[in-house]
Amino acid sequence: MEWKIKLEASTGLGEATTYEVGVLRRDLGDLTSDSVGLSLAEAKALLAELQQRIVQTQIDEYIVCARVCKDCMKLRPLRDQRTRTLQTLFGTVRVAAPRVRVCSCLDTLGMGDLSFSPLASVLPDRCTGELRLLHADLGARHSFREAARLLKTFVPCSPPNHVSVRNRLHRVANAIEGGEAAPTLTPTEAGHRRTDDAEIVVMIDGAHIRAVPGHQSRRLDVTVGKVETAGRPPRRFALAPMGAEQPAQAIRAALIEQGWRLGRPVTVISDGEPALPNLVCAAKGGPVSHILDWWHISMRVRHIEQALAGIYALRPTYPAGLDYVSTDVERLGHLIWNGYAAEAGEALWALTHLASEAIYLNGEHIGPAVRRFLLHCQELRAYLANNESALIDFGTRYRAGQPISSSRAEGMVDEIANTRMAKRQRMRWSRRGAHRVATVRAAALNGRLEGWVSTRPAA
Ligand SMILES: [Zn+2]
Repeated sequence: MEWKIKLEASTGLGEATTYEVGVLRRDLGDLTSDSVGLSLAEAKALLAELQQRIVQTQIDEYIVCARVCKDCMKLRPLRDQRTRTLQTLFGTVRVAAPRVRVCSCLDTLGMGDLSFSPLASVLPDRCTGELRLLHADLGARHSFREAARLLKTFVPCSPPNHVSVRNRLHRVANAIEGGEAAPTLTPTEAGHRRTDDAEIVVMIDGAHIRAVPGHQSRRLDVTVGKVETAGRPPRRFALAPMGAEQPAQAIRAALIEQGWRLGRPVTVISDGEPALPNLVCAAKGGPVSHILDWWHISMRVRHIEQALAGIYALRPTYPAGLDYVSTDVERLGHLIWNGYAAEAGEALWALTHLASEAIYLNGEHIGPAVRRFLLHCQELRAYLANNESALIDFGTRYRAGQPISSSRAEGMVDEIANTRMAKRQRMRWSRRGAHRVATVRAAALNGRLEGWVSTRPAA
């Protein structure tokens, strides 16, 4: 059996032309699950041929229209034939792209040599927007090699290699960065909305990735986060601060988009790394209210509880002193939750003394377990002391329905830093490279990558 696949093109003038796109053959007796219907290879070949025909007829028609002189309505003569390469999702297409002479009706000065290329202005880039979008999107999720391999598996597009995926992602990232830096939205802009009274919360978190050799440190920081406010979907951001020209700019753009204006307060929730709230201060150009992430505190309290259980598991002969410790550990979480951080610090100090005495009472066999417990207590005490100003009455804030944790930003660490950039991928990152991938991935997660690709073509 044989199928002829044909394409019928009808021009604006009503002329129809038929092109043969391909032929498909199958033996009638040979119907198996492998031979039924189109194979991937056949589909890719057909798509490539179809694309070549469609693009060429589309361009031919466009050039005929572009040749018409708007002054005398005559067809301007062709100067020469050139070919132009266009990379598309369905193959690299070579098209005839002639240059057109300036019309003689305008050429009063006898400049007969003037000509122009009608395609240069409409197709400035040698790549379609859709292909650029997919290169950027897949390149921000997978390694550049894997992105190129995935695309080549399913469509006849032919990026020469992973380098073109990387270069296109870089150009998209530069467009995003340039757009976010552009003062299209000024913070003083009017247009107050009712929701402008709602709290603006920045949940921010960080991760470390491996840096390329030669970088001053073996690790690079990646910062991710979300800006949330009532009545608007959250807006995500991601950056590699060392690789960004203006690290605070992505956060500032996200703040402005969420309705932040000069003078409006901003709350930051983070795990206590001072660089993170400082970055938001820089974005805002002023101080922020910083809240220590409740989840990180509760994990540290949990570690103390587990270490205490570890001491009990050794069945100490004289557990009386430990029972006092146990009562204080139970209070600990409640004290911090309700904003009594100073009291929590005192409780920690008291219970470390009681726990130390337990070694003298029960002997050195519980020593290592007690010391592990003391270490966790010291760490929590230092953590609370270092972040004193970021400790609040979590209970009241929680009951008011306001966020107390940056755990939603941690999901972004997984999305961006861990899946694409983590150590297990064995990748080493340059500062700019890491920043660009983070920028593009955040734009994709915000559902706005397409806007950056189609409305701002790379120069
Ligand atoms: Zn003319």
